[in-house]
Order: sequence, then C-alpha cells, then structure tokens
Amino acid sequence: MGKMYINGEWVKSKTGETRKVINPYNQEVIDTVAEGNREDTIYAIQAARKAFNNEDWRQLTGEERGDLLYQIAQSIRKERDELARLETLNTGKVLTESIGDIDGVANVFQYYAGLADKDGGSVINSPNPNSVSRVVREPVGVCGLISPWNFPLLQLSYKVAPAIAAGNTMVIKPSELTPLTTIKLIEIMEEVGFPSGVINLVLGQGSTVGQEIAESLDVDLVSFTGGTETGRTIMQAATSNFKKTSLELGGNSPNIIFADAQFETAVDYALNAIFFTTGQACNAGTRLLVEKSIHNEFVNELVKRAKNIRMGDGLDPETEMGPLVSAAHLNNVDNYIQIAIEEGAELAVGGKRPEGETLQKGFFIEPTIFNHCHSKMSIVQEETFGPILTIETFDTEEEAIQLGNDTRYGLAAAVWTEDTNRAERVVGQLLAGTVWVNDFHINFPQAPWGGYKQSGIGREMGKEGLEEYTELKHVYKNTAPQPMGWFGNQ
Ligand code: NAD
Repeated sequence: MGKMYINGEWVKSKTGETRKVINPYNQEVIDTVAEGNREDTIYAIQAARKAFNNEDWRQLTGEERGDLLYQIAQSIRKERDELARLETLNTGKVLTESIGDIDGVANVFQYYAGLADKDGGSVINSPNPNSVSRVVREPVGVCGLISPWNFPLLQLSYKVAPAIAAGNTMVIKPSELTPLTTIKLIEIMEEVGFPSGVINLVLGQGSTVGQEIAESLDVDLVSFTGGTETGRTIMQAATSNFKKTSLELGGNSPNIIFADAQFETAVDYALNAIFFTTGQACNAGTRLLVEKSIHNEFVNELVKRAKNIRMGDGLDPETEMGPLVSAAHLNNVDNYIQIAIEEGAELAVGGKRPEGETLQKGFFIEPTIFNHCHSKMSIVQEETFGPILTIETFDTEEEAIQLGNDTRYGLAAAVWTEDTNRAERVVGQLLAGTVWVNDFHINFPQAPWGGYKQSGIGREMGKEGLEEYTELKHVYKNTAPQPMGWFGNQ
C-alpha cells in the first residue's frame, strides 16, 4: 500500500482511510494508497516548518544541495523503466510519452543541480560613500507544491527541484488520481538522504489537503499546476498570509498555419499538437487556424490521418493514443462534444466512444475534429482538455493574430510559415508565454515556462523558475559609522 511520507517516516493517514488507484485503460485497481486529510496536512506543514529552522538543512551549501539534486537525477535515470511503466499504468498515456516524461524529470533535477550554487548575489551601487550594498537571495521557507494528473511527475519536478536548490522545505500533494510515481520519487529522495521534515508527502483530495496547504498561515509559498478555476480558489485562500503564489493554469493554444508552411510537416505536427497525451496537455494545440487557400486540403489530410490513430493500452508499443484519465473527465469531454454539435460546429471525424470490446473498459474517446468553427463557440473558448481539435480559417496575417489572441488563456502558441520576417511579426503580437515557430510542444529545463493572461502567474524552469523559490534581501553596510547628532543634541 502506498503511504504518505511525513517528518522522515512512511505513515498511514490519521483516519486510516485509503483510496484505490485506477488504471484508466481498463479500470483495474493498480494500488491502494493512504487518503490523508487536513489533520495529516497540518502535521506535515509543522514538520516542514521545524526542518526549515533546523541547522542540518539551513547550513547545507548550494553546492551540497546541488549534489543531492544530481544524485536524484542519477537515480531517476536508473529507475527510468519502472517509473515510466507506473506513469503509463496510472495515466493511460503511451509508454513512449512516459519515457519522455521521465527523461524530462531527470533533466530538470540535473539542471537545478547545476544552478544551486551559481547565484552568490550581487553588489549594487550605493548612493553613499563608505558603504557596501548587496542583494542576496534566500529560501522562502515552507513550500506547498500541488501537482496535476496529466504529467504527474514531470510537473512536480518543475517545483521540487528548484525548491530544494534554493534551500526550502516542502509539503508535496500530487493529484489524488495519479500519486504512484510521486511516491516512488519520495522513495528515491529518502535514499539519497534529506534531514527529516525537509520533504513531506501528503496524499488526498484538493478540497481537504490542497485547501489546507493554500490556507495555512505556516506555508510561505504555494506553487500550483492545474485548472484555472482551482487556481482562482487557491489564490483566494493564499491571501490568508499573502503567500508567494505561483500558478501554472490552463491553456487553449492556437496553432497558426500560413499557406506557405511546409504542408506535410505542418499536418503532422498539428496532429501531434492536439492528440499527444490524448489532448490532456495544458499547452495542446487545440485551436487550428488555417489560411483559407489551403484549408480544404489541410483538413482532408488531418481527417484521413486522425481516422487511423490506434487507441489502446499505453503499454502496447502499437498504441498511439491512450484513454482519458477518469470516468468524470470522459463525461466532461463528451459534454463539450455535444455542446459543439448544438452550437453548429461541423463534426469532421470522431466525436464518440470507440467501438470494440477491449476499449469499452477504458475511458476512451475518438480523436475528434470540428471544422468551420468560430471564436464565439464554447468549444473554441473553453479548455476541453480532451482530443478535440477546432478549426477556423483566416485570410490575412492580422486576422490570424486577432483570432490567435481571442482567448482568456495565454500559455502557448505556434506559427507555421517559411517567411521568417512574417514569423517574427506574428511572434511579437501573440500573447503567450511560449511561442513556437515551425514546431510544437517542445520545452526543456533551460527555458522558462508559464502563461500570460488567465494561464497563470510566474514561471517554472529556467533561472526564473529558481527565483520563484527565493526571497530577495538587500544588505546595507556602513563601513565608517559616525554619530548623526540628529536627536536631542542641544
Ligand atoms: P485540478 O485543478 O483539478 O487539480 C490540480 C491539483 O489541485 C490536484 O492535485 C488537485 O487535487 C488539487 N486541488 C483541487 N482543488 C483544490 C483546492 N481547492 N485547493 C488546493 N488544491 C486543489 O487540475 P487537474 O484536473 O489535475 O489538471 C488539469 C488542469 O491542469 C488543466 O486545466 C490543465 O490545463 C492544467 N495544467 C496546466 C499546466 C501548465 O503548465 N500551465 C500543466 C499541466 C496541467
């Protein structure tokens, strides 16, 4: 049974409650894990607070923390196959994707291992003679790290690695649907060796465990990846003590194809942009915007290939697309499809659960494409978080930019053209945290990741992702102190 890890010990929840973890491919129970609640969370927060004040942790140098992170990266590489298998069993995603995720996790730990001892602060110009002014970065304190189910370990690594690099302590809460690889990561971290209380894992629901983390007066920072509405709730709760807040929220990313784009490559990537991870990627290319002159040809090719996508068990090397993560999510996605049809979007392919006995056991939905959409439709405006592509057309560069930005989200965007000057003009106008030119989905630890508008606050990864986990301190030293003689000096 998967347990929680609090104050250096593996524990059951205080109530003894448990939760079954389900394989979305066939609804089989993969594991049973502890189900914590507020009381367990308070205990974990107290442990993290105590550890933050403990010299054993506070006195480690950046170099030593970097070494711990490097060891974690190495262990993840050793456990790559097992971690990837677990991620596929728990999320349903295909194994190749899980392997990519786990390689990404190791790279994130290695990147922050390298950064942990690099920032020694800076000396700034002081307006006064005989003085030295410097600015240093210090850890924030106790961090609450809340992660989603779509990239369970990868999204968490964006938080855990920089939090350690900066010298914080933490309470980790993975999604209740997908806790298995996170439990395994904690085992790895225990083996690498951290003082008790530095790393704590609490399993359970968002409304109890997550809410306690967001509200607690003893948590100094909350970093959350998940839905925009949950982000709003967390931000409100975090006002209790004005915690530092980092929010990585939803997206509805435009993928803009000009007529001069390399046709075959653009089609290929457009499919990958939406159907990767069964459309359950925050940065999925959900809104395809195609120049009118190539629209018919482009859609025909997309539909032809979408029909051939093989759905099945993520562990089967033949499978190209797995199921959605849960019955509740399947229901949400299905609702969006019905709404789209009611709103007059033209269903070009998919739109229903696949036939065949094996697939009935899992939470499958066919790759779905809606043609002739417009930006007033809810299917275009909302994040469906499923394998649903909407297609709109444009005539001019200006129109493409206007449609691309016609969303409350701003996580990512892509533009496809062979005209490099046009690409630069469009990039400069798109309101998104990441913009790809003739590519899609690519991200890596060196580059900051995060959103404009309602896609979030702050950035993960890159050096900016480390700075989120630090407080700035200005230190001013008078090197020739003299009496001022200001008060009561008659
Ligand atoms: P979610 O918001 O339902 O849950 C995310 C996490 O928050 C889970 O651990 C959940 O238990 C917890 N949670 C729920 N209610 C809470 C509350 N009141 N207080 C504190 N914690 C709470 O999201 P999800 O369904 O797990 O993930 C899908 C969403 O995540 C999508 O909207 C997607 O776009 C977004 N996402 C964004 C990024 C990004 O980088 N911007 C990356 C991945 C996923």
